Order: sequence, then C-alpha cells, then structure tokens
Amino acid sequence: MSLTLPFRNSYAELPDRFFARVRPTPVEAPRLVQLNEALAVELGLDPAALRSPEGVEVLAGNRVPEGAASIALAYAGHQFGHFVPQLGDGRALLLGEVVGRDGQRRDIQLKGSGPTPYSRGGDGRAALGPVLREYLVSEAMAALGIPTTRALAAVTTGEPVFRETPLPGAVLARVAASHIRVGTFQFFAARRDVEGLRALADHAIARHDPAAAGAPNPYRALLDGVAARQAELVARWLLVGFVHGVMNTDNSSISGETIDYGPCAFLDAYDPDTVFSSIDRGGRYAYGNQPQIALWNLAMLAGALLPLLGEDDEAAQASGRAALDGFGPRFEAAYHGGLCRKIGLAMEREGDLALAQDFLGLLAEAGADFTLSFRHLAGMAAPDATDSGMEASGAVACDAQARGAQQVGQGARALFSGLPGFDAWAVRWRQRLEDEPGGAAGAADRMRQVNPAYIPRNHLVEAALTAAVQGGDYAPFEELLGVLSHPFEERPGLERFTQPPAPSGVAYRTFC
Ligand code: AMP
Ligand code: MG
Ligand code: MG
Repeated sequence: MSLTLPFRNSYAELPDRFFARVRPTPVEAPRLVQLNEALAVELGLDPAALRSPEGVEVLAGNRVPEGAASIALAYAGHQFGHFVPQLGDGRALLLGEVVGRDGQRRDIQLKGSGPTPYSRGGDGRAALGPVLREYLVSEAMAALGIPTTRALAAVTTGEPVFRETPLPGAVLARVAASHIRVGTFQFFAARRDVEGLRALADHAIARHDPAAAGAPNPYRALLDGVAARQAELVARWLLVGFVHGVMNTDNSSISGETIDYGPCAFLDAYDPDTVFSSIDRGGRYAYGNQPQIALWNLAMLAGALLPLLGEDDEAAQASGRAALDGFGPRFEAAYHGGLCRKIGLAMEREGDLALAQDFLGLLAEAGADFTLSFRHLAGMAAPDATDSGMEASGAVACDAQARGAQQVGQGARALFSGLPGFDAWAVRWRQRLEDEPGGAAGAADRMRQVNPAYIPRNHLVEAALTAAVQGGDYAPFEELLGVLSHPFEERPGLERFTQPPAPSGVAYRTFC
C-alpha cells in the first residue's frame, strides 16, 4: 500500500522569512492510536494507506513524504496582553496543503514533531493526554457545526516527554483551513516589513477572502472578512458554553476556525465569569469576556494592517476603526439570534431577546447546567417520544427507548422545579411560542437541532483520557468520540453522557 499525499504548498512559496524549513525529529516507536477515517476520505486521502506502516511513519514524522513542505511558520503574538515579537511553530510543522473532495484547500500539520528554530527552549514535543484532548474536543466542535481545526490522527511515539513528571509522548496530525494567525500579521508589522505584510495579506485573501481581491480596498475587505468570521465564531462558542481559555493573538485564526485546544472546556453551570485555565489568573479569557477579547485581537490585527489600509495614516486609522465597528453588530446579530433559536424562536419579535436573556438569568441565579437546561427546555415546549414526552403524555413506557426517554423527562421536571422563577417565565415563553410557525411542537423540533444533548463534559473527557493514557484503554475515548459525533441526536442508553458531574465542591481546572 503506498501513500500518496497530493501536496500543493502555497505557503512554502512565500518568501523565506515566513518560515523555517525543518524536518520532523523521528520518534522511537510510532504507533497509530486514532485515525479519523471520515476526515481522511473528505481530504481525498486513503485511510488504508494512512494505516499502513509507511502512513504511520508519515503521521509520526519519521518519514517526510514526497512533495511535503515540512516548514515551521513564523509568527508573533500577544500572550495574555503582552506582546512577544517572535513565537512561531515551536513544536509543529506544516507538512503541506491538500485540496479535499469539496475543493477546499487545507493544511496538514504535525503537532509534537520535534524542535524548530522557534522552540525557545521547549522540547518540541506533545504529551498524549493533551493530544487526545485536542482530538476529542476539536472533533466535538466540528460535529456541533462550529468552525474548527480537525484531528486526522494521533500517534504515540514510544518516548516520554518530561513535564512535571514523565508522560507518554504523541504526535497529532491536525487539519486546518490555514495556520495564518493574527500573530502572523503582527510578526511582519513588528519588523516594519511592509513587503512581507503585503505578501501575507495577499496570500490570506487568495485563501480565505478571494472576493476581497476585487474590492476597492482589498486589505480593508480582508479585515472585514476576519472580523465577520471571528464575530460569528465567538457567538457560536458562547451558544454552546465553550471557553477557549487562551485567546492569545497567536491562537486567533484568520480563517475563523477555532484553533489551539489547550486549556479549553465547556461550562457545566451557567456562570459568565467561568475560567478553567490554571494560568488565567486574572480571568482575562473568562467565558463572558470572549467577545471583547476577540475584538481586542481584531484591533491588534487592524493595527498590524495599518500600512496597507489607507493612503495616509489618518485614512488607514479611519478604515481600521470602521472595520472594528462592524464587529459588535455582527456579533450581536449572531449571538442574539442564536439565543432566541435556543428557546425555539425563529421569527424576530420585540421582546424575544429579553425573554431569552431572562432564561439565562434564571440559570445563572440557580447555577443550573447550561447544556442540560436548554436541551430539556425543548421537552417543556412540546414533549415528544425522544425526551420527556412519554412521561408528560402519560403514555406507558413499553421499550428501552421509552424508558430512557422517561428518565430524561423526570430529569427535566426536577431541573426546572429547582429553578426559582421558571414557572412564571414559562408562562410568557409558552405564550410567545404560539406565534411561531408550527407552534410549540415546531419550536421543540427546532430546539433539538440547536441545543446539543452531548458535549465534551469535563468529567467524561478526563475519564476517557485517564483510561487511554494510564491504562492504554482507548475504549472509553472511542465511545465518547462516537457519542459526540452526533451531538443533537439523543439515543437510548446514553443518559450518563448528558449528566453534569456530581457536585465535588472543587472547581474544574485545566493545565494544558
Ligand atoms: P500555545 O500556548 O500552545 O499557543 O503555544 C505558544 C508558543 O509556545 C508557540 O510558539 C508554541 O509553538 C510554543 N510551544 C508550546 N509548547 C512547546 C514545546 N513543548 N516545545 C516548543 N515550543 C512550544
Ligand atoms: Mg498556539
Ligand atoms: Mg497550544
């Protein structure tokens, strides 16, 4: 079985100062532990060839396939608000770009493939736990329909990586629309390298905003495009309770994909101040701060692009400001519209947003589980056989599916009876649903399509990673991955995947 990777390397054709040509550092004993066959097929790659010994060597970095670029990208970035002029891929290599069956060009990157000139003293490696975490959470995000990098494969290296303790090492093969970051623009701006900046902007336009090339000011159109994508993205994060955790400008993608799954996690109880990352002591990247941070990152992008934005400094400043002004309305339209859809409202009526926000207020006050509350709300609108229906309609549970559904129904009752103010709110809400197309039943159906039953709950992710990393048992990981690949489709027998963690009294912390 021979592996052909039809690479086309547009990034490697950019000037030399954009990257360093580096070969991955071979590892001791590569072993494929996960392969995303569906994604491989989408990319036009042969899963059997990727599984072959030659394929695994490529995925581990032990063999550089023909036509690969194998480059570490240079970038800069603001980390927790502090500018670092030289970051770059310190433990990752862009193997090359492939054009998938959908005609989309995507990067294939190895993460954990050894040191590069940008490693800044780091070992260039990744530990298995964080690799599997990124695999699971990025695939869950993709299944939720949220723009994200994807995981193609995870390979263990047979070598330890040394953090506080020795940990098993791994390499992740990551797929992205591109790896161009806000920090990539900052890299050239900080060096006053306007030629480099322009070449990067032209490349980004060709890749992500081809229509901008024909605009009166293509670079302003690029900035508008990035602002629109980031506004949509962060709105979608909020709507599923996602906390990225490390929204540094080097982790902010021009393509509008979620990138760099380090300390990210999903909310259990709804609290806008939630922070999971142990290093985010000031709460800069708290759940509710994410829109402001996205805008701050865009301001850094606008600043970097200034030399391209106008005839003179004043015109450039005005253009940048106007682009940033577009972010708020765009974010609000996406977030407010999404919130209203979460409570079943498809039409726009005066007072809808207040109704949705009042529900969030109830959740915040009671510390109710974000995901479960919205999911169960569908059953409160119009029960059906897939959740609280059997119980509410008085039907007799006659098979396993119905029994499972009945449990959820009782859960919903208990959940909302513990929510002071819910009954009064529900009166207003049910009244409003009567005006919706299809009434309450139509709304309930739509709600089940936007409010996931299954998210990568922290306690489930931890348990799956512990089994894989400590016990070499991938069954829980694969089961969870399977559950998360259909987040909106409630299936019998999977109730435990919908449940919040048992109260522990200790806040969940992430350390990646
Ligand atoms: P991150 O916090 O993952 O966004 O990474 C910030 C910077 O540190 C990037 O330039 C990474 O390439 C680099 N980096 C993170 N971990 C390592 C490592 N183990 N070895 C070398 N560079 C690293
Ligand atoms: Mg990063
Ligand atoms: Mg990272």
